[in-house]
Amino acid sequence: MPRGRVPSLISAGNGGIEMGETKMRSPCARCKKVLPGGSHVALLKVRNAGFTNKRRLCLQCALDVVEQTQRDLDAIRALLST
Ligand SMILES: [Zn+2]
Repeated sequence: MPRGRVPSLISAGNGGIEMGETKMRSPCARCKKVLPGGSHVALLKVRNAGFTNKRRLCLQCALDVVEQTQRDLDAIRALLST
């Protein structure tokens, strides 16, 4: 029996999304739409050279990322279930 938490492909340090709020007007990292200060944003965690960067995304772009992740997971699941 393996012990401990089951690792996840999108656990802390392996990507994943956090919710956050903009402090001032800033653009979405993907669609460049300007997000007013104080708006809800998704922070996509991106591992880069040992550091975890957080890319600010508007909620629509975050949904696109989640959908793409779902497709990628489905592809992985298909590989495992042959
Ligand atoms: Zn966006």
